[in-house]
Amino acid sequence: MTTLDDRETVLDVQDLQTHFRTKFGTVKAVDGVSFSLKRGETMGIVGESGSGKSVTVLSLMRLVPIPPGEIVGGKIILDGEDILELSELDMVKVRGSKIAMILQDPMTSLNPVFQVGSQVGEAIHIHQKLQGNSLMDRIINVLRQVRIPAAESRIKDYPHQLSGGMRQRVVGAISISCEPKVLIADEPTTSLDATVQAQYLKLLRDIQEELDTAIVFITHDLGIVAKMCDKVAVMYAGRIVETGDVRDIFYNPRHPYTEALLGSLPRLDVDVTRLDSIPGQPPALHSLPQGCPFAPRCKYAMDKCLEDYPPTYTLNEGHTARCWRLEE
Ligand code: SF4
Repeated sequence: MTTLDDRETVLDVQDLQTHFRTKFGTVKAVDGVSFSLKRGETMGIVGESGSGKSVTVLSLMRLVPIPPGEIVGGKIILDGEDILELSELDMVKVRGSKIAMILQDPMTSLNPVFQVGSQVGEAIHIHQKLQGNSLMDRIINVLRQVRIPAAESRIKDYPHQLSGGMRQRVVGAISISCEPKVLIADEPTTSLDATVQAQYLKLLRDIQEELDTAIVFITHDLGIVAKMCDKVAVMYAGRIVETGDVRDIFYNPRHPYTEALLGSLPRLDVDVTRLDSIPGQPPALHSLPQGCPFAPRCKYAMDKCLEDYPPTYTLNEGHTARCWRLEE
């Protein structure tokens, strides 16, 4: 049986830097982010709003608005090719076919005036050049893959004729229609209620097994991370401050920010009257303090933390964190 270790790396992000030039100064939204993903692997990226999660994945799709944004450094090796070297025309061929994204809100990502069949078929027509009956067969198959009942008749529906869960399935169908190697799921269950959310997550798992797709999961919900992900990257102020196997992160967090995020989760096995919260606000990215940006909110902060940004410490294979407390 093939284990994750034997599988090929499909995505290798090296020292990615995405900046925005604003009237307040340069916002370093993503500042030296590195990670890799193998076929069939799922990585969760977690962190508060403004930590750089969404800009990281927009950079992977090369959809950062220019200006004010710009990818100013690093490499994104997708299936052996640095996509930052590609022209916009070549990137159009990569988006949808090799890397695709499921957006948060199906009501804004689906076009209300087109039937769902034509929206699912668009990428298939462009990338796989199918048309006529073969295109129609493929659309129906993709809709069946995301468990849309009576797919043959549903292709003529408009988005408003579908329930919220069905619409999100259609968004999923569009993103997997060309069987991409990497799928980015940006808070894909935010607009769904708990039961539909569980069904949708199971569906994503099933699709991943069928297509052997690598998934990058962006979420605020650590419960979803625990259920879905093989590994986790915790982001703070545009950088990954801790990364590791999902068990390392949940059972042995080593960065105070990860510890604080987990401390704010309700638990069934511990009787608490009040959940922890993280004091203060994330820093403004255009004027980061010297030293560790988490220092003003960190209960362990020392003098050194106010002077220099901590280096990356390797704790065990695949588990790293950036905190001066890990210095020996
Ligand atoms: Fe806290 Fe210092 Fe570690 Fe930053 S480096 S997380 S301030 S202990």
